[in-house]
Amino acid sequence: MPNPGAYDTVKVLLVDDDEDDAIITQALLEQSSLPRFEIDWARSYDAGLTRIKERQYDIGLLDYNLGSRTGIDFLREVHADSPHAPIIMLTGQGNESLVLQALESGAIDYIPKRNISSENLQRTISHGIEKIRLQEELAAHQRQLEKTNKELKQRNNEIQRFYHLLAHELKTPLTAASEFVNILLESIPGSLNPAQTDYLHLIQGCCQHLDRNINDLYEITRLETGKLSLNQQPEALAPLVKDVLHYLAPKAQAKNMALHTSLAPDLPHVMMDVQRIRQVLLNLVGNALKFTENGGTILVQAYEDPLCSDRVRVAIQDTGMGIPQSQLTGIFERLYQVEKDPSTASPGLGLGLFICRELVKLHGGTMSATSTLGKGSTFSFTLRCAQ
Ligand code: ADP
Repeated sequence: MPNPGAYDTVKVLLVDDDEDDAIITQALLEQSSLPRFEIDWARSYDAGLTRIKERQYDIGLLDYNLGSRTGIDFLREVHADSPHAPIIMLTGQGNESLVLQALESGAIDYIPKRNISSENLQRTISHGIEKIRLQEELAAHQRQLEKTNKELKQRNNEIQRFYHLLAHELKTPLTAASEFVNILLESIPGSLNPAQTDYLHLIQGCCQHLDRNINDLYEITRLETGKLSLNQQPEALAPLVKDVLHYLAPKAQAKNMALHTSLAPDLPHVMMDVQRIRQVLLNLVGNALKFTENGGTILVQAYEDPLCSDRVRVAIQDTGMGIPQSQLTGIFERLYQVEKDPSTASPGLGLGLFICRELVKLHGGTMSATSTLGKGSTFSFTLRCAQ
């Protein structure tokens, strides 16, 4: 047991030690033309157990009274070995109250003997077989899901290891190359002509870009392996915002862009790891600068979140190219980059926003974005107010 699915012929094991009842049940089953019932009658408790072990049945019909033992004992014994064996209990006059006990012991259904009829038997058996088929299908799906889940976890671990190895293998020679570029730029081995100096600055820029990407890979592995811990303290946001904007001012000037702030005057302190929130702000304001045309404006706001009184919301608004609505939900995913014209594509791994959101989540906050194509975007995140 079980062998559901054989719908044209259904193999039934009838366990009943009352000969008259068994004959009636068999006769009622034989009235059916489709499905055809192939009935095997076990006249005692022990005979029933032996048959079940020897043969495969689609369904069992079990009487409650079986000599000195009961159908409940039978169910328990069978289900200890085969928990899904499909058995229907036949309850006699006076023992209907045992229905609950039978169902708890694994019976898939019951038929009161006083209601027994050919249609009733057929219907209950079909339902029972269908129930078992669905249970098995569900169990198979569950097994498949567990297997897929395990494979995904394994693959994720491999990717983590790969990121880590890649970052390590790239970082060492890159650090050496940067050092040598700096030595050349400082004219230690000899003086440079202007063209050589320009080329070396280009190389230095490329090294810095590569270094940022490698650091992102490191961050990802640390975040996803739970190795990144925060040092959260009650801190003021205003000095941090000022510091970040001061750091990025030359970039904004180079693109003739205005950097504005609007910080609520009585802003409470927030719980944060200053270095990590600095990293988030640098990334968000950096993106705003990157994806806004020359002459645009960036506004950094901080205010008590109207939706949640114990949170401060920090919002970075730009007048840049915007993001299509269809892609707005994807941008926080790992390695996601908005599809765009290759000529305007920016170099990057698509890890920045993912890292920002994970860092904010570690702080107990949330991050979201709104955007209008061609008009600009607003990225905002929340932080918990310090008590
Ligand atoms: P990357 O490091 O490649 O820039 P991010 O995760 O920081 O990756 O950003 C993912 C993508 O989201 C970017 O490639 C860009 O297309 C889009 N994006 C992010 N910030 C902005 C913004 N302020 N305006 C328009 N597009 C943005």
